[in-house]
Amino acid sequence: MFAGIIVNNESILLDKIFTYKVPEKLLKDIKIGQLVKIPFGKSNKLVFGFVYTLKDTITTEVKNIKEIYYISEKNQLFTLSDIKLIEYIKKSYLSTYLEAIKLFIPPGIITGVKAKTKIVLYTSKALEDKYSKEPYITIYNFVRDNNGTLIKSEIASSLNLSISPINTMIKHGFLSTSSEEVTRYNVREYDVYEKKQLNEEQLIAVNEIINSKKNMFLLNGITGSGKTEVYMNLVEHYMKNNKSSIILVPEISLTPQMVERFKGRFGKDIAIFHSKLSDGERYDEWFRVKQGKVKLAIGARSAIFLPFSDLGLIVIDEEHESSYKSDSDPKYHVRDIAKVLSYNNSCKVVLGSATPSIESFYHTYNGEYQLINLKNRVDGATLPLITLIDMREELANNNRSVFSKELFEEINLRLAKKEQIILFLNRRGFSTFVSCRKCGYVFKCPNCDISLTYHNSGNLICHYCGHRERSVNACPSCKSKYVKYFGIGTEKLENEIKRYFPKSKTLRMDFDTTRKKNSYEEIYNTFKKGEADILLGTQMIAKGLDFPNVTLVGVISADLSLNLPDYRAAERTYQLITQVAGRAGRRKKLGKVIVQTYTPQHYSLQYAKNYDYLSLYNEEIKIREAMNNPPFSRILSINLSSENERVLINKANEIGIKIKEEFKKDEFQILGPSPSIISKIKKMFRWQIIIKGIITDERAADIKNRVYDLIKDVYSDIRINIDINPNSLL
Ligand code: ADP
Ligand code: ZN
Ligand code: ZN
Repeated sequence: MFAGIIVNNESILLDKIFTYKVPEKLLKDIKIGQLVKIPFGKSNKLVFGFVYTLKDTITTEVKNIKEIYYISEKNQLFTLSDIKLIEYIKKSYLSTYLEAIKLFIPPGIITGVKAKTKIVLYTSKALEDKYSKEPYITIYNFVRDNNGTLIKSEIASSLNLSISPINTMIKHGFLSTSSEEVTRYNVREYDVYEKKQLNEEQLIAVNEIINSKKNMFLLNGITGSGKTEVYMNLVEHYMKNNKSSIILVPEISLTPQMVERFKGRFGKDIAIFHSKLSDGERYDEWFRVKQGKVKLAIGARSAIFLPFSDLGLIVIDEEHESSYKSDSDPKYHVRDIAKVLSYNNSCKVVLGSATPSIESFYHTYNGEYQLINLKNRVDGATLPLITLIDMREELANNNRSVFSKELFEEINLRLAKKEQIILFLNRRGFSTFVSCRKCGYVFKCPNCDISLTYHNSGNLICHYCGHRERSVNACPSCKSKYVKYFGIGTEKLENEIKRYFPKSKTLRMDFDTTRKKNSYEEIYNTFKKGEADILLGTQMIAKGLDFPNVTLVGVISADLSLNLPDYRAAERTYQLITQVAGRAGRRKKLGKVIVQTYTPQHYSLQYAKNYDYLSLYNEEIKIREAMNNPPFSRILSINLSSENERVLINKANEIGIKIKEEFKKDEFQILGPSPSIISKIKKMFRWQIIIKGIITDERAADIKNRVYDLIKDVYSDIRINIDINPNSLL
């Protein structure tokens, strides 16, 4: 028997299937998806590999065929059906076999993370004469009362004894030992989350999803319409039918509520899977799923690859979020993976959102997805009123503060009524731009083409590479003292709140205040308990938080996202405003949202104000079509970078000419080569070539191969990175 092996080596040159002979002694154990050790290369160094294929014969002649050395992990880390998906990922996202395989396996398995065990004690035969005395009697009784749960040191310290009498008892057979697996996952108890009586819309949604012949659904439900309850009912249905479910959330550490609710409903036997877990925790969760011990997993995008064997349902909550696309290789989008899984397992996929991505909504028109609407808030509450404030008029009226008159008054009103307030500003730090008023010098990162942000700590920090330097009072260029700080970040907003509302209690939630483990949850819980009046923060606070006492949401500047150089800027702004607005006036209290902007006439803000998704969609889709942007095309972006700018420019131009020549006959639009919008990050200069057109999965792989062929001789001089429909073109 012969095995096709994928070698555990990142090099793109080794991205192929190597043939090995399966030795006699391994024949009965060998399986696809196992981790094996093989001799590799001229030196026959032992390396890890994955069994990818198994065949009785080989057609092509292989000289000096080597043998697999041994099986390192007997469990199948991936199965035959996973291989279909691995092939799809390799092809559509231009990844290597190894990169695709790594999505499926528990991280740490190669570096030797193992199930954790402990040696626990049991009582065995009764104590005999010589030992029928203290301390043996006490030890014996204590072990009997805690049979199979405690290890030696725990017993010794509980009884305030040394370990030696315990060892004596083991030696003479009064106590026995056994190895038990230690679970590294969270076994905390959660408050019960009562099952709700579904309203009519929710009932229709659940029944439609279960009974429809279709498998892909877009659940378009306004904020507060009870989408989670729909998900829960579906999970329950599939559980009863012995099928498993995966619930995906954009970022699990930012959605404690989802875990709270599901654990509160279905008990603690739910796998939680995301990148903030340790390798050990992830290993345990992975095996719990593999062994069929859980029927439900909640996680960030990587959870879609958990080894369920009987998948019934995949939910992608807030499906429009950009975190569902991976920005490291393989650069997959979780929606596409779900579609393939649905096809292979005929499971249901539910994409949920109040503000679907333009692409997904488009797919409800061409029949790919079935559209299901939840048009009303569960509690009958109306959506909060959104008011747009023209900040140009504030200036004209001599108001230079960050708060418009109306926002200022509304905040005071809520503070007086003891209601809570959320203020949103999508920029961290204090001042976002520091420059000299005399000569115009701008403080920039030495490694990146980005201006430095001033932080309260007195540092100037680069938000791209983390570079930091002490801020200075004198201009490094002209030595003048006219160094000025411009732009406002969350730290400054916090200061301004303290200045204008000195009596309010404020919490700030952004990257800087949530870096420590659990700090997010602490802020979240403090605010939930009503121990603060105002929560201010970046997009972290826009996610699905449900605080019943929040009646006012303020968006300090809507222009930040509107002005991003990205074809999705309008869509993203609409989504962001609707999302933050959804934080106000849940339950019975009427909520209000104030959005400050310098461009109140922009269609995305106008439609957001009226919660008019359909008009936004109709406007956007016309523009997408006219500009030949997704969903009408795919964008393949070829990113070139090098520390040496001259070399990069020369090579980029050379490659550009070759690509235009190569793709002359295809109906593609080729843009560039040109410097990327951020022309330098982490000392690397960046250029870009964009190929736009109707690029199917099949063609994507073909294009990639042709591009790699064209550039293989410059590969060593510059770095090349190809992405399909990237999250941003910066
Ligand atoms: P969404 O995710 O659509 O914004 P949620 O799922 O958070 O909405 O639901 C909003 C609130 O309504 C939650 O507090 C939830 O417990 C409650 N809820 C949902 N469905 C029902 C129902 N059928 N009856 C009563 N309350 C419900
Ligand atoms: Zn100067
Ligand atoms: Zn930098």
